[in-house]
Amino acid sequence: MHKNSQLEKETMEAIIKQVKDPELLSQIEKVVPFHGFLTSGALIGIQMLNIARRVLDVQEGERIYVTCETKSCMPDPFQILAGATIGNNGLKILNLGKMAVTVNKQAPEGVNNIKGVRILLDPEKTKNYPKLHAWFLNTEKLPHVEIVPILLDAGEKVYSWKLVDIEVPVRRKKRIQCCKNCGEMFIQHDNELLCGGCTE
Ligand SMILES: [Zn+2]
Repeated sequence: MHKNSQLEKETMEAIIKQVKDPELLSQIEKVVPFHGFLTSGALIGIQMLNIARRVLDVQEGERIYVTCETKSCMPDPFQILAGATIGNNGLKILNLGKMAVTVNKQAPEGVNNIKGVRILLDPEKTKNYPKLHAWFLNTEKLPHVEIVPILLDAGEKVYSWKLVDIEVPVRRKKRIQCCKNCGEMFIQHDNELLCGGCTE
């Protein structure tokens, strides 16, 4: 996990105190105890969530579905601020190592295709912020206390997004199979007879 010195924690607290937007400040204050620290990736997640909410016109309390293309930091704001969690299937991690996320709302009954938005941290735009760009491309080792203020200042100017078609998965009846090797029960996806643990 993130190891931060006392000095870094105090510096970050001072940075957070400077946030003027009360909504953003409240979001940050919820993410910090959940994630442990305001990392650059966690702040990027917050900013992406806010773009998605606006673009998709997400109402208070409305469910969203999120596919996050990295497993580090970025997924947490969606869990704590939007209730899109791993456990409720609101959050999927597609670990492509990309600073990108796709968000969609719940499709109406019987609809199997819905518009979503894919948002990414855009290197053409981070170029305008050399330190942030160097952090993003990892050409320079930079602490979060240096990157977070740049992200706060840049706001949405470092992101690009476009609407995408999302196929809503068809719900199938859950079938439980007893693994022919280990004898444990598992949810069958196709007609496999061995569990995932025994397939390796
Ligand atoms: Zn097995």
